[in-house]
Amino acid sequence: MSCEHLVCAQCAGPVVEGRCPSCRAGKAKLHHQGPGGLSPAVVVVILLALFFFSLALQHLVGG
Ligand SMILES: [Zn+2]
Repeated sequence: MSCEHLVCAQCAGPVVEGRCPSCRAGKAKLHHQGPGGLSPAVVVVILLALFFFSLALQHLVGG
């Protein structure tokens, strides 16, 4: 996700330059994706790891 082409509604400048408080707030929001600052890709990797871990456990228990 990129914020290079976003224009601020208050100062009409590029949000990425952070000229006014609204720009800085928008920039901060763009760079913090999701709750806890986790990006969707990281969440997918964690879910995959848990999935394979549970498969390995079932294999061990089921023998
Ligand atoms: Zn602005």
